[in-house]
Amino acid sequence: MTSWSEACDARPHLLGPQLAEQYRDLVEDAGVRIARRFREIDHPATDTPAQTLYERVHAIDLEEPLGDGHSALAEVDDLFLSEAVWFHTPGYLAHLNCPVDINAVAAESVLAAVNTSVDTYDQSRMGTLIERRVIEWVAAKVGFGHGDGVFTSGGTQSNVQALYLARELALAGTTGWVRNRQQERLVLLATAESHFSIARAARLLGLSDDAVVTVSTDDDGRMSPASLQSRLREVDLQGRSPLAVVATAGSTDRGVVDDLREISSICRQAGVRLHVDAAYGCGLLVSQQHRHLVDGIEDADSVTLDFHKTFFQPVSSSALIIRDSRDFAAGAWHADYLNPADADEPNQVDKSLQTTRRFDALKLFVTLRSTGPAQIGRSVDAVVGLTREVHRWVARHAELQLLSATDLSTVLFRWQPEGVSDDDADALVAEVRSALQRQGRILVAKTVIEGRPSLKLTLLNPELDAAQVCTQLEEVAATAAGLHRVRMSHTAPVEEVLV
Ligand SMILES: *Cc1c(COP(=O)(O)O)cnc(C)c1O
Repeated sequence: MTSWSEACDARPHLLGPQLAEQYRDLVEDAGVRIARRFREIDHPATDTPAQTLYERVHAIDLEEPLGDGHSALAEVDDLFLSEAVWFHTPGYLAHLNCPVDINAVAAESVLAAVNTSVDTYDQSRMGTLIERRVIEWVAAKVGFGHGDGVFTSGGTQSNVQALYLARELALAGTTGWVRNRQQERLVLLATAESHFSIARAARLLGLSDDAVVTVSTDDDGRMSPASLQSRLREVDLQGRSPLAVVATAGSTDRGVVDDLREISSICRQAGVRLHVDAAYGCGLLVSQQHRHLVDGIEDADSVTLDFHKTFFQPVSSSALIIRDSRDFAAGAWHADYLNPADADEPNQVDKSLQTTRRFDALKLFVTLRSTGPAQIGRSVDAVVGLTREVHRWVARHAELQLLSATDLSTVLFRWQPEGVSDDDADALVAEVRSALQRQGRILVAKTVIEGRPSLKLTLLNPELDAAQVCTQLEEVAATAAGLHRVRMSHTAPVEEVLV
């Protein structure tokens, strides 16, 4: 005999008229738990060892359900929220993650519940139209008169799609061996500072393994226009054909913006397509103080923007914007069941690499309609201003070396007081990062700058002030000094020095 409650639970728990109230209770339950965490949490992570985290997840039997959503949420609270990495905390200084606009988070629950897919008009109607309206607004901010675009899952996908369209345009009208032969000749030009998704896109698109031509940079990591010109000449002399130049508006490591005016004018003269990867720097488009850094972006052919970085949107929220809407046709496919070529409806799937696709545009829409673009711009200006103050402080610090300038919000530095060798300072970078990671109070990242390891901060929290960041950098310096003493003595265990 099955009990009444078992019989109830045997029904699928699908959102519909009977479960509307239960749905509201569950969302409220989740909201209450989240709100409590946000009130109480002050560190980005905990000091729970990775092995313990692993064991706790693996102790869970996925064949033995708890029976209801509230119990599962309680487990999520205990298992995940207690051990999450929190980007809004003062100690989170590591990667390109931002605290999120609460209005956009609320919109996230709306799009999840309605479960709209913005692939075809008949599945989304107003969803498609809202996405198109938001895209129009973004294209106008970029400076494209009649631009077009589509939301994507992230900068990686936006870049892949931009280069896919560029390749299809470069090979337009060719088939068979002619197309293959021509594809072998294609190159793209980018600097070593460009995001790794560019080089991987070249692989994915089946370009030849020497298809990424590296353009030199100046000392700050910006593309050298002179080098771009000479590389374009060399490519031409080799009988190869550039499908695009990729400029970066906010490099992931240094946060520097290439000179888009110069680069776009070189591209125009050479008749080469320009893609601007503004995944990081897109927030400059709404900045009151620093918009000029992306002047010239309006002369690009395509632009990648990550709203989940400098527009303070929840992951995922990104877009590829193109100057000429006809370019999408070069990459479109038509399926009889979905988007036949003679469809008279506005089907977003014609513009996307994805088919089923989240209605992420709703989140940015709600941000624009609640607090508006100027508020995003002020937050961008706040993090840029904060970063400049931190740079000045690090530059004066006796034990820290500032390693690179930035236009945006990264801080690249190393602990190396006088008398500490390069080898020791280099080795300490990874050790400091790991030691801080184990404690969970301050999270920093690391990278390699000019061949040497570097600690890295990416500041994307407009609520932080410079004093808070610098106090934490003193702790980073103290951690490095402690680890250095251990390295020198080779006797005391690391834990003793860290307390
Ligand atoms: C973050 C970043 C990307 C990748 O974006 P995702 O959203 O992480 O896929 C691409 N280019 C640049 C310059 C970036 O900073």
